[in-house]
Amino acid sequence: MPELPEVEITARRLDAALRGAEIESTLAPGINALKTFDPPLHALDGRAIAGVRRIGKHLVVDVAGDLHALVHLMNAGRLQLYDKRASLRDRTSRLLVRVTDGRELRLREFGTKQAAWVKVLRDGDLEADEAIATLGPEAWPEAPAPGELRELLDVARPLHSVLRDQRVIAGIGRSWVDEILWTARLSPFKRGDDLDDDEAAELRDAIAGVLDGAIEHYERVVELPIPDKLPMPLQVHRHQGEPCPRCGSTIEAVFYEDYVMCYCPQEQTGGKVLKDRRLSRLLK
Ligand SMILES: [Zn+2]
Repeated sequence: MPELPEVEITARRLDAALRGAEIESTLAPGINALKTFDPPLHALDGRAIAGVRRIGKHLVVDVAGDLHALVHLMNAGRLQLYDKRASLRDRTSRLLVRVTDGRELRLREFGTKQAAWVKVLRDGDLEADEAIATLGPEAWPEAPAPGELRELLDVARPLHSVLRDQRVIAGIGRSWVDEILWTARLSPFKRGDDLDDDEAAELRDAIAGVLDGAIEHYERVVELPIPDKLPMPLQVHRHQGEPCPRCGSTIEAVFYEDYVMCYCPQEQTGGKVLKDRRLSRLLK
C-alpha cells in the first residue's frame, strides 16, 4: 500500500533516472487504467521527461510541452523503471512508457483488482483535477504546526480515520497512521476534536518523525527498478500479537473488512483492548 514515504522514494529514484530522457512510445495494456482521452496518451510520444515528483500519494511525470501524467498507485500499484521492455504476457502491466535509450517505465499492479489509474493532463488541468484540488496540506516535508493540525482535525471523527482523509491532510494511509499514533501514544479512537495542545504537539512531532524516518530508511535500501514489495520499516502495523517495541505489552489489532489497525493498549488506550468487530465497526 504505497503511502507518502513509498511514493516519495519512487518519485526521487525515477526523477534522478529519467529527467531529460525522451519518450519513444506509450502503451496502456490495462484497459481501465487510463482515465482521460484528451490529450491522448500518444501526445507524450517524442517528448522529453522534465521530472518526476510526488503530490500527496500521487506521482506526477512532468513532460516537456506542459503535459503531465498523473498516476495513483492505489493499493497495489508500483511505478518501476526497467532496462528492458516488458513481455507482453506480463499481466500486471497497466501502462508502459518506452524511453528512446531502451528503458521502460512501467505502471504495474499486483492482485486481482484493477484500481491504479493514470490521467494525461495539461498544465492548468493538473492543479484543477479533482484528485489534486481536493487535497489537504502535505503531511511532509513540513508537517502542519500543532495549531494548524488542531484546526484541520477539529471534527468528531476518530484520529485513525481523520488522519487518513486526504482532504484533511495529504499522504498518510493505513500503515503509517498506526505508526504515527503509536509514536504519539494516542488512541486511534480518540476524536480529532478532542485533542489538547500537548497532544497536538505530540502528534505533529510523530507525523514529522515517522515520515522522516521511513523516507531515510528507503533512501538507504530502495533501488531501481523499485521493488515489487517495498521493505516497510513498520514497528506496530501488522505486528499484532507481538511485543510492543517500547513497553513490551502485546500489540492488539482491530480487524476491518480489508485492513487491520494495530495499537498498544498499554500506552494508547489506557489498557483497554478493542477486539470485537461489531464494536469496532461502530467506532469507525
Ligand atoms: Zn507499548
